[in-house]
Amino acid sequence: MNPKTETKLLRLRDFAFGMGLIALTWYGIGYLIDANAALVERLETTSVVVSEDASRSDFELKGAKASLYNFSYTYTVEGEEYEGSDSISSPLSIRERTLDGKELLTATAYYDPQDPADSYLEKPDTWFVEKIRTGIVVLLSLGSLAALFGNRESEEAERVKAKSAKQREQRATKYARISSSTLPENVNSMKDGNRYQGICGACETQTEVRLTKLKDSWFGICTKCYFSKDW
Ligand SMILES: [Zn+2]
Repeated sequence: MNPKTETKLLRLRDFAFGMGLIALTWYGIGYLIDANAALVERLETTSVVVSEDASRSDFELKGAKASLYNFSYTYTVEGEEYEGSDSISSPLSIRERTLDGKELLTATAYYDPQDPADSYLEKPDTWFVEKIRTGIVVLLSLGSLAALFGNRESEEAERVKAKSAKQREQRATKYARISSSTLPENVNSMKDGNRYQGICGACETQTEVRLTKLKDSWFGICTKCYFSKDW
């Protein structure tokens, strides 16, 4: 197969592989997103009593100070009591006074009716997974396009290689013409690299030369020329 066609086919193969990965990523992560969306859809709300030992962790996000508040809380679903905990970005400040005068910190939480122990102080969102999916797909797309259209450098290198091989063949033809008059008569029984007295096809001096073969060209070349850039 001609090298250009081969290169094109390899590129198409890499491109198709990238496209396959994109499809897999899209549907694989899409499955997670759908599962998450179904969960968010069926969440129900309940009032929770928040424990007073909330903790706060401060950190920097893109140079701005931010805090996460970690709450634990209790709630009741269908007579069964559950404990939950969640970290949210804002403090809770809803206080209720109970009938016997006690003050409680309360909040609304979301829970999964299929698994009431699963609860959240803030409704979960799918944007994070969506962002990851978009990021991966964009990277894979760039990679696939690079496989299809990029890689100019190696294509250039291939062309240079092909060109120098062609030049070498042309040189061999010329050296064969120049050294043909002194090729030994028994050249057919000689091996590539055998030495004899004759004309060097490159520098055209009469000296000890080595028999050299490239494709259909047989010629003699002196050691100096053989190891120089002329050959
Ligand atoms: Zn020479």
